[in-house]
Amino acid sequence: MSFQGRTVLVTGAGKGIGRATALHLASLGARIVALTRSPADLDDLAGRIDCTPVAVDLADAEATRDAVRSALPVDFVVNNAGTTSLESVLDVSSETFDHIHAVNTRAPLIVAQEYARDRIARGLTGAIVNVSSIASTVGFRDHAAYCASKGALDALTRVMANELGSRGIRVNAVNPVVTLTPMAVKAWSDPEKAGGMLARIPLGRFVEPDEVAAVIAFLLSDAAAMVNGVALPVDGGFLAV
Ligand code: NDP
Repeated sequence: MSFQGRTVLVTGAGKGIGRATALHLASLGARIVALTRSPADLDDLAGRIDCTPVAVDLADAEATRDAVRSALPVDFVVNNAGTTSLESVLDVSSETFDHIHAVNTRAPLIVAQEYARDRIARGLTGAIVNVSSIASTVGFRDHAAYCASKGALDALTRVMANELGSRGIRVNAVNPVVTLTPMAVKAWSDPEKAGGMLARIPLGRFVEPDEVAAVIAFLLSDAAAMVNGVALPVDGGFLAV
């Protein structure tokens, strides 16, 4: 698999799955446009790979649109950035709900819109991978806004696959189970909770960020030329049992 001469825009490339994805795709020859919030993370990444850093808060719709436009053209998109907050259905505030949806669901739409408009105007095909979660289909306690945002992202992926697929742009999602990144540490630091989760994963362990990055690379590549509209679990079998 080679991404030589191809450019990939990766959101949330500063940490976790996004960083692993940027490094993996760069190792396969891609030039990375790293779009994330913390300038320090961008400096660190730019010190390791050939990368164009773009600092933006994806909760800001207009700033996101401007940032993507300034980064185009790119060959592929990975909508990876995401955020969470542990609040129950009874406690979650409107502000938290709106913020999580702005980052996890609206920003991927805006990035995809700008990317797809540009590809279509140039008469080119393409591919997008949206980083969703098994939380799109499982009702985890205290993840009300997060689960809703990922369920919406899967739905958005299907509509994109339908509308953009007919223009030659494939759109798929990956749906990891707990992946050992800073976000997971925040959500799964309680050993009792982690143990219960591990017991439900037939392969008996959480996912490494590199293992999600490899699946993302596959879905972007020509090896997946007829894969469009899937929500692909990277979950060690969690959803199978
Ligand atoms: P991390 O928290 O480790 O990294 C998230 C990245 O996204 C960071 O670089 C962060 O930047 C960036 N980001 C977050 N909010 C914004 C924002 N408003 N504007 C710009 N950048 C932002 O998360 P993970 O790597 O764990 O998660 C990546 C994706 O994978 C997410 O969509 C998540 O929902 C999904 N996922 C994660 C799982 C897990 O267990 N880790 C399991 C299933 C899915 P900064 O730090 O500067 O805010």
